[in-house]
Amino acid sequence: MPNGWEIVIGMEVHVQPTTRSKMFCGCAVGKLGDPPNSNVCEICLGMPGTLPVINKAAVEACLKTALALSCEIPRHTKFDRKNYMYPDLPKGYQISQYDLPMSRNGFLELEGHRVRIRRVHLEEDTGKLIHAGDKLHKAWESFVDLNRAGTPLMEIVSEPDLRSADEARDYAVALRTLLRTIGSAEAEMEKGQLRAEPNISIRRAGSEELGVKTELKNINSFRALHRAILYEVVRQTEVLESGGTVVQETRGWSEAEGRTFSQRSKEFAEDYRYFPEPDLPPLEIDPGWVEELRAALPELPGARHGRLVQQYGLPVKDATLIVGDRYLADLYETAIANGAPTLSTANWIVNEVAPTGKLIDPAYLAELMKLLHGGNITRDQARETYFESVETGRSPSDIVAEHGFAQLSDETALLAEVEAVMEANPRAVEDYRAGKKQALGALMEELIKRAPQANRKIASDLLRRLLG
Ligand SMILES: [Zn+2]
Repeated sequence: MPNGWEIVIGMEVHVQPTTRSKMFCGCAVGKLGDPPNSNVCEICLGMPGTLPVINKAAVEACLKTALALSCEIPRHTKFDRKNYMYPDLPKGYQISQYDLPMSRNGFLELEGHRVRIRRVHLEEDTGKLIHAGDKLHKAWESFVDLNRAGTPLMEIVSEPDLRSADEARDYAVALRTLLRTIGSAEAEMEKGQLRAEPNISIRRAGSEELGVKTELKNINSFRALHRAILYEVVRQTEVLESGGTVVQETRGWSEAEGRTFSQRSKEFAEDYRYFPEPDLPPLEIDPGWVEELRAALPELPGARHGRLVQQYGLPVKDATLIVGDRYLADLYETAIANGAPTLSTANWIVNEVAPTGKLIDPAYLAELMKLLHGGNITRDQARETYFESVETGRSPSDIVAEHGFAQLSDETALLAEVEAVMEANPRAVEDYRAGKKQALGALMEELIKRAPQANRKIASDLLRRLLG
C-alpha cells in the first residue's frame, strides 16, 4: 500500500442456495434462458391477499452454511420487511432479516488469518429489468422479468477484516469452495448465483479509526472483484491526498471501462422502515435439528487442506489447488485409495486435470498413474491415454495395449540402442569423458530419436555407466 495508507475491506456476499423452489412460494427457481415471467405465481408477483410460506430447504442450506462458518445459531429468528419501491420488486418490499438473523458471530479461516463473519441470513431476490432501445432515437423501453423474484438468497456479511484486493478475492474464493463442499450452493458466478459487494475504505496506517467507505454493488467475477477494489483504493487515495473527502455512497463497476462510478448516496437502515413480516410467524429453530445438521457436515476445506499436506506430504500450493475444487479433491483421494502414488498423482491433477477440467474415473486415474509411475509409459503417452479414456470411458490399460504404448524398459534391448548411439557419436563420447558433462544431454537426445519408447531413467543410467 503506497504512502502509509491501510486498506480496510468488509464484504457482503449474496449466494443463491441450492433449492428446487423459491423462498416463499412453490415456483421453480428460474434458470438462465427460461422465457421471461414463466416461473411466477400470485405470491412472487406480489398479488394482494396472498400469503408466503417459508421454504425449509432454504432454511436448511442457510443453517448449514452458518454452521460451516462456525456461527452461533440463535433459537429465535424472524423475517422482516425491507420497504422500498423499485420496478423489479412487485410487492414494494423485500422479505429479509433485520435484527434477529438466523446466525451470527462466525469466522472463515484464510491462510494466515481469520476473517470474522458478522451474520448469515436469508432473504429473497428481486426480479430483473431489461433495458432495450437506442439512444439516438430516444426510443427506450424497459422490460420486467420476474423469474428471479422470490428466489432464495443467503447473505453472508463479514467484518471489515480484509486488508487488500488479494485477500478480498481469496476470501470470496474460499467462501465458494466452502459452499460447494457442504453442498449448500453451486455458487456459479457467471450465472449470478454468487454476487460480491465489498465495502472499501482507507486510513492512515496505525490509525484505529475507520475511514469513510464506499460500497461496490453486484460484482460477479473474482477478476472484477480484484480489479474494482484496486481501482477504488487508488481513487480514494487520490481524493484524500488532494485534500478532498470520500463520499459515503454506493458505486458500480464498469468492466469495459475498468472503473467504478457513483450510483447513489448510501441509504441507511432507517430509510427502509424495517418491521417484522406480519404474514410469517417468527421461526423457532429446533436445536436438535441444528445438531443433526452440524454432525452431517462433511470435512471442511481448511481441515482437508491440512490433512492432505500432513497425510500425503503434498506441497501446500498443490493442496490449495486440489482442495479448492471438491471434485478434484475427491478424484485425488479416491485415486489414492485405489493405490495411485501420492505425489505424482497430485502433480498430474495440478498440471493435467485442473487446467482442462476433464475428470476421469478415479479407479482409471489410479491405473494410469501406476503405469506412469512404474515407467511403463512416457508422460506424453500418459497424457494421450488420459484424454482418450475421458472421451471413450475405456480403461487406460486397454488404450495403452491398443496403441502399443509401452516404454522400452528392458535393459538388454536398451543396451543395444545405447551402444549404437555411442558408436555413431564418438565426439560426444570423448567430450563427456574429457569432463564436458553436458555432452550427456546430446547423447540422450540422439537416443530418444532412435528409440522414442526408451525409458528415460533406465537409458540415462545405462549411458552414464557405459561412459563411465
Ligand atoms: Zn411464485
